[in-house]
Amino acid sequence: MIEPLFLEAVMQEKIWGGTKLKEEFGYDIPSDKVGEYWAISAHPNGPSTVTNGPYKGLKLNEVWEQHREVFGDASGDVFPLLTKILDAADDLSVQVHPDDTYGLEHEGELGKTECWYVIDAEEGSEIIYGHHATSKEELKEMIENGEWDKLLNRVPVKKGDFFFVPSGTIHAIGGGIMILETQQSSDTTYRVYDYDRKGDDGKPRELHLKQSIDVTTVPSVDPNSSLETVDSQNVSITTFVKNDFFNVYKWEVNGVATFEHTAPYTLVSVLEGEGELIIDDTKLYELKKGMHFILPSDLKAWSIDGTLQTIASTPGEKL
Ligand code: ZN
Repeated sequence: MIEPLFLEAVMQEKIWGGTKLKEEFGYDIPSDKVGEYWAISAHPNGPSTVTNGPYKGLKLNEVWEQHREVFGDASGDVFPLLTKILDAADDLSVQVHPDDTYGLEHEGELGKTECWYVIDAEEGSEIIYGHHATSKEELKEMIENGEWDKLLNRVPVKKGDFFFVPSGTIHAIGGGIMILETQQSSDTTYRVYDYDRKGDDGKPRELHLKQSIDVTTVPSVDPNSSLETVDSQNVSITTFVKNDFFNVYKWEVNGVATFEHTAPYTLVSVLEGEGELIIDDTKLYELKKGMHFILPSDLKAWSIDGTLQTIASTPGEKL
């Protein structure tokens, strides 16, 4: 029998975390500082657990290791994708991630290309996206002299916005913003600037200036392109990004919509509304806001009945 894999998340406390995850999604969270909700993860720092079907109780990395057929016999040592929700009550540190070559060479881990769908943003909230240096020398100078206002590019955001953040992009999420992040399964982050704040131990958090200067793309590029939305019966599908690492879509369902699998497997997060996932016209799974699941490889088609919005992702061409 073919079953989707519903997942239970791992929550990570962060000094910048808030309480919106609980307010928005009703998650049972243990503290008011949960900043990251690792919804679909096989990363060793926080793998999610399957809650139904034949793999119930297994961690996602164990399913990847022991049942590769679920993922269409995809190759690779690590499950390549990671879906997180970030709830920023305060500004996150300004950071940059390496690409795969630099990450593997210096950290023994893949680099990180990521992207953000804005679930919620308070009036006036901003992200940092890219920079204004025109050469590596200028970047180095501005970082070393702490000329942050001159260096960092600020962008106002609102609910429903999407940002593609390739490795090498200086970025930060501002306070008052909640995003769904789809990323390569990596935890390698170089911190450029932390607003001179102190960590839990009273000391400033470590910065990684040399690595940041090494990996930052200069000049800054803005790869965000115009989005394409295709309407078919009872569903609008917007393609946000397609690249080597992942493809990310928004499905807006209104009624009964039928889908055919075009990828080896698909990760889905329900961000608004509710309904049912229908398999073989007979098996029904309740869907509601805040649920996360994977549609496995042997599932060729399915229907969704309801009024809901999801973000879906599939592995990119390089994987
Ligand atoms: Zn990042």
